[in-house]
Amino acid sequence: MEARVLIVGGGPVGLVASSLLSQRGVSNVVVERRDRTQRAPAAHVLRRRPMDVLRSIGVEAEITRVRPRLPLHYITWCASLGGAEVGRLDVAKGLAPDEEVWTNCSQNLLEPVLLARATRESLARVVLGADCFALDQDDDGVTARVRREDGSEQTIRAAWLIAADGAGSPVRHLMDIPMVGPGPQGRFFMVHFEADLRPWIDARPGPLFWIMNPSAPGTLIVHDAARSHVFMTLRFGTEGEEDALPERLAAALGVPVIPKVLSVDAWSPHVQIADRYREGRVFLAGDAAHRFPPTGGLGLNTGILDAYVLTRQLAEVEADRAEAASLDGYETECRPAAEANAKESFENLKHLAEISEAVGAHPDLAALEKRLSSMNAGERATLDRAIENQRSHFVSDGCLPPSLRDGLGAESPHQGESAS
Ligand SMILES: Cc1cc2nc3c(=O)[nH]c(=O)nc-3n(C[C@H](O)[C@H](O)[C@H](O)COP(=O)(O)OP(=O)(O)OC[C@H]3O[C@@H](n4cnc5c(N)ncnc54)[C@H](O)[C@@H]3O)c2cc1C
Repeated sequence: MEARVLIVGGGPVGLVASSLLSQRGVSNVVVERRDRTQRAPAAHVLRRRPMDVLRSIGVEAEITRVRPRLPLHYITWCASLGGAEVGRLDVAKGLAPDEEVWTNCSQNLLEPVLLARATRESLARVVLGADCFALDQDDDGVTARVRREDGSEQTIRAAWLIAADGAGSPVRHLMDIPMVGPGPQGRFFMVHFEADLRPWIDARPGPLFWIMNPSAPGTLIVHDAARSHVFMTLRFGTEGEEDALPERLAAALGVPVIPKVLSVDAWSPHVQIADRYREGRVFLAGDAAHRFPPTGGLGLNTGILDAYVLTRQLAEVEADRAEAASLDGYETECRPAAEANAKESFENLKHLAEISEAVGAHPDLAALEKRLSSMNAGERATLDRAIENQRSHFVSDGCLPPSLRDGLGAESPHQGESAS
């Protein structure tokens, strides 16, 4: 099999890169080791400029169709979902009635939209169930070895390779490119569950509820108030902890609903950037190039912009309008933005402690609720200030590559919704 660009990894970044290349007239093959798009909701925040990119490949209407309506008014801190409220931040303040602080679309709903978009192009081929396990490169291109689910092997030849193969990036390992920066910042369980929580969400609609119950601390991420949620909770490493997660979830919710747990994943945030984004004809993009804590929702957004800048430069070289050496500009533009976003995400994570400090440490839920109900005016004002101080965490678009700060630029492959 041959194409001008081989994309390893059919996650959101690889699929967006494929559609952008096709729109720019560059043939491409995507190999994805899974046989379907991912089931876990994972990321859900789409910021403004990445939404411009998605609009430019013509998927905005489809995103609007598949995502549940969830008014993004508040970020709420509470003892438990059904218990005492600690406070809330109005993130819709100052926005027009039809404006949203971000576009909320869970990754498991976004990926099928991106897959359908990528496969519609005659210049693209998306191969699912294909694991890239070996790579060689020479002066003219790269040769990749791919193993299919039935055990058969295949060779793919391309002029360039985009490694969009996620945080563990096998291609990055094959290229011997280390990650630089702090490793795991705590360990978490991500519990994906089904429950109708509308009675406790509808009056203060929003995507995030920070649960402060001392025996069940964590973040409730509302993907669909009527059914789909993730509870992200610290992993203490105690014996039998995973088996006790349903009880912890029930304590975090504190409502008369029995949630149906769909999956549990262990996960650790990192604050790391690849030592270099390029090795000859191979380029890293998305989580393969950078890993941030989810505080700020910048990971996926930074990856979509990587795909935009890199494919624009590859298309220029493929059309003989630029020299191959100009491709170094991808790292020059995108790496500093990723570094700034890693720092911002980490600062957001550390900054959250200001609220816990204002509330104080308590042995159990009853003590926490008693403390909340007995705060004097000065203590309440300190707590309200600590909550207001989190605003930039939720409204920031993060750092953008310089060429995208004022929009997608003149060379945007924009085809509006005609591309859908
Ligand atoms: C449970 C979870 C929750 C998350 N929550 C958030 C959040 O709230 N906010 C946020 O910003 N980010 C979050 N993230 C991170 C976010 O999902 C990533 O930033 C985003 O998925 C990056 O997209 P990507 O395409 O670069 O990588 P990925 O989505 O990881 O896609 C990489 C793809 O490459 C494939 N692949 C890997 N190796 C090979 C190979 N050798 N051959 C072929 N294919 C291969 C994988 O199967 C995968 O499909 C979360 C991640 C997880 C797992």
